[in-house]
Formats: sequence, structure tokens, C-alpha cells
Amino acid sequence: MKYEGTTYRPPPEADSLLLQVTVGCAHNRCRFCAMYRDVQFRPVPLAQIEADIEEAWGINPRAERIFLVNGDALVLPTQALEAIAGKIHKRFTECRTISMYASIRNIRAKSDRELAALKALGVDDLYVGVESGWDRVLARIDKGHTAAEAERQLARLNQAGINHVANLMLGVAGQCSGQANARRTADFINRTGPGVIWVGTLAIFEGTELHADMVAGRFVPATELEILEEEKALIDAIELDDVRFYGVHPTNTVRISGRLPQDKTKMIAAIDAGIETFGPETLSTAFSRTSL
Ligand code: SF4
Repeated sequence: MKYEGTTYRPPPEADSLLLQVTVGCAHNRCRFCAMYRDVQFRPVPLAQIEADIEEAWGINPRAERIFLVNGDALVLPTQALEAIAGKIHKRFTECRTISMYASIRNIRAKSDRELAALKALGVDDLYVGVESGWDRVLARIDKGHTAAEAERQLARLNQAGINHVANLMLGVAGQCSGQANARRTADFINRTGPGVIWVGTLAIFEGTELHADMVAGRFVPATELEILEEEKALIDAIELDDVRFYGVHPTNTVRISGRLPQDKTKMIAAIDAGIETFGPETLSTAFSRTSL
């Protein structure tokens, strides 16, 4: 199998077969993101993907789930994704799901018919970098979409029957804005109905624009206490009927997970217990995170 650049995959895809279909991320502009700065975006040639499928099939012919690497694989034209899915199904007869990272812009570029065709080929569980439901934050991090646009495109995904995982980022609004961000993001989540909510915490890496903003005083990171209070407010304000909530990202100080609404009280209590364990003095600073 040939992998170029660093390979990223969501933690829930730990057991999936990873098939690289693009190098890097087509957007590559989010001001906090250092993941693909060292590579130029390009699609992987189909011949290489085919060779990788053959090799992977020789190792694990019964793979049921395949994750397409890298940053926003849904950017590939539908025809290319259909060709890849066709080759996957030809070899991996037990494969049920083909998942990948997807941006709101990637979804917007696909027609309803194309989304339905991809769903029919097993494309599902798209990991979407929602990050926040607040336009001010989205603009500041150069996410490449507005909340209204994201809402429209996620509604189209829902309509096509494609499940999505909403990736959210605690602390991304900066100091003194955690509560407002939690309210707006929960409202957004309530309107867009993801199948899964996945929550990480902002890490500020050297070399990113956000790091430069922080050094110049244009961005002041939230304290750890504010981040944990933001997560509590977010959980509290989510009103979906049945949604899995994972706050177990390695960047999170307190790891929690559960199903909403039934585990709401339990998860908030777990964060409160974490706050008590760390204590107000420790949590009054902004923690430095250097790895994902
Ligand atoms: S879309 Fe994702 S991978 Fe691409 S720059 Fe933004 S956060 Fe990074």
C-alpha cells in the first residue's frame, strides 16, 4: 500500500481499511490546521488506487469498512468516486461502508442525484468539519463555509440518507466566547441532526495562522475551565432525540462519551468531576497542546 504524506483517520475508523485517494486537503486553509501543510493537494491516480486495492485484498479480503484517506476525499469528482467504489466492491464483496472526510464545499459541489448515487454505492458516515455553528468563528478560522451554507448542505446529505459525523472543536471561539459558541453550535446541531457528534479541543500549532494570531494578541485562547464549561453548555443545549456524543479526542482534558439525551446528566457530572480533580488554579490557564 502506498501512502504519501501523513495519514489521518478519525479514531472510530481504527479498524477500517485505509485507502489513500488524495494527497493532502483541497482547502488547506483553516487557520488552526497544520495537518497537510507539507504536501500539495492532488488526487491519487486510479491505477495506484487499483494496485492498493489488490494489495489490501490480499491481506484482508473480508474488510467490511473502508476509509478513504486524506483531508477531504469527497472533493473527488463523483465519476472518480464511483470508479473507486466500483473497484472496491469488485474485490471486497463484504464491504458495506465507504467513509471519508468531507467538507461542506465538497457536498455543495455534488448534485442530489450524485449524492444518491454515492449512497447507493455504500458511501456513508461522512466526517464533516463543522467545528462551530457561529459565523464569526467560522470566518475567523477560514473554514470555507458559513453556518447557513453548512445547514443547507447537511440537509441535502440527510435527504440522500447519508449519515454524517459532526466534528466540533471546543475552545475555537477563544477566551470569553465559549458559552456563546456552545449555544450557537448546539442550535446548529439541533437543526442539522448528525448521527454522531465528535468533539475535540483546539490545539494551536506553530506555523499556523492561528498561532501567529495568538502571538500577535489577535486571538486569546480560552482557559481550560472555560473549555470544560463550554462542553457542558453544549451537551446541555443539545435536544436531539437519539445521538451519540463522543468527547474522547486525545486533545480533550476530560474524556466522556454517551448517548443523548439519556446520558446528559451523567456526562455533565463527569466533566464536573474532572473540574474538581484538576482544581480551579490549574484550570485557570490555557493548556498547550502540541499533538493531535
Ligand atoms: S478542511 Fe480539514 S484538513 Fe483541510 S485545512 Fe481545514 S481542518 Fe485541515
